[in-house]
Amino acid sequence: MKNYSIILILLCFAVNLAAQQEFVWKPEHTEYWNNQPPVVTPGEGVKPPSDAIVLFDGKDLSAWQHADKSEARWKIENGCFTVAKGTGDIITKRMFGSCQLHIEWRIPAQNTDNGQGNSGVYLQSRYELQIFDSFNIPLYSNGGTGSIYKQAQPLVNACRKPGEWQVFDIIYTAPEFCGKGEVIAPARITVIHNGVLIQNNTTIKGNTEYIGMPAYRPHGRLPLLLQDHGDLVSFRNIWIRDL
Ligand code: MG
Repeated sequence: MKNYSIILILLCFAVNLAAQQEFVWKPEHTEYWNNQPPVVTPGEGVKPPSDAIVLFDGKDLSAWQHADKSEARWKIENGCFTVAKGTGDIITKRMFGSCQLHIEWRIPAQNTDNGQGNSGVYLQSRYELQIFDSFNIPLYSNGGTGSIYKQAQPLVNACRKPGEWQVFDIIYTAPEFCGKGEVIAPARITVIHNGVLIQNNTTIKGNTEYIGMPAYRPHGRLPLLLQDHGDLVSFRNIWIRDL
């Protein structure tokens, strides 16, 4: 009986070895034809791709409102809209989680405004990607344009002059929370500013705070928010893709 077992094991080993030796890799063994990615038509020039949600097309602010749900009162002119001082932040009517966001913005030329060009793009209304006149005005390194405000400075300063249009292309991964509200995975953000990488999969540490340390408070999908900091910052060509 013992001899039969040994013979059987040896036989299996030999068959297995033969099978392994016979297998020859071919190109098609690593070519997967199922689960093809969905087709998306890229936009021509600055136009959004075919599956984007357009948040501003140069005509109206119907995708936006103030926090109290009143109509967005920022000023539309010449295909862009501008902060109306004192009216407050605006938020999208739609809620978002992880996303790709394209947004163009412009700080007024200094001779027309005494402000600092302060505004901001708040992912999920909580995490600020700063807009500021970092072309001219020195500020703490984690507070200028492209910083995750008071958390992470940008890799480089890629600012254009005030008066010129600038672009943020953002890839944002929303945080994950467990049932008790603890953070399973923090939010992460990659930002390309005017074609230059300035945040590379940066970990967001929690809610943006002006005073004190950031901390998370659990949440689900939330609106995108643009900040009214009292400066005449303009925006145009805003589109977003859910990820
Ligand atoms: Mg700001």
